[in-house]
Amino acid sequence: MSTTDCIFCKIVAGEIPATKVVETENVIAFRDIAPKAPVHVLVASKTHVPNVAAAAREIPEVLAEMAVVAQQVADAECDGEYRLIFNTGAAAGQTVFHVHGHVMNGGALGWDA
Ligand code: 5GP
Ligand code: ZN
Repeated sequence: MSTTDCIFCKIVAGEIPATKVVETENVIAFRDIAPKAPVHVLVASKTHVPNVAAAAREIPEVLAEMAVVAQQVADAECDGEYRLIFNTGAAAGQTVFHVHGHVMNGGALGWDA
């Protein structure tokens, strides 16, 4: 399933470019266009679901695959240590409503909201 106006569905479909770092059957990882840490890679399902809880309900195997891919990215880029963030809802900073985790590290990560 995909939605025609979803930017990450367009990346999955190859309709807009992205710098891919890992791709599996069900998951794609690509560099954030506006990185907020030296390592800032987005790990997204190829299927469109709006957030992490929906992914857990509807495509749990793919959510698990996303976690494995996040680890692969971090193994390659930051010694396997990283923060994995799933923003949920606009008030929490979600701007793209297609499930994705932010794999971040490579600098001092703060915890300021
Ligand atoms: P959210 O705020 O929804 O948790 O994360 C969305 C992320 O997607 C943001 O960090 C933003 O910089 C990134 N982003 C938005 N549009 C694009 C795009 O077209 N390409 C890439 N690579 N990243 C994008
Ligand atoms: Zn989508």
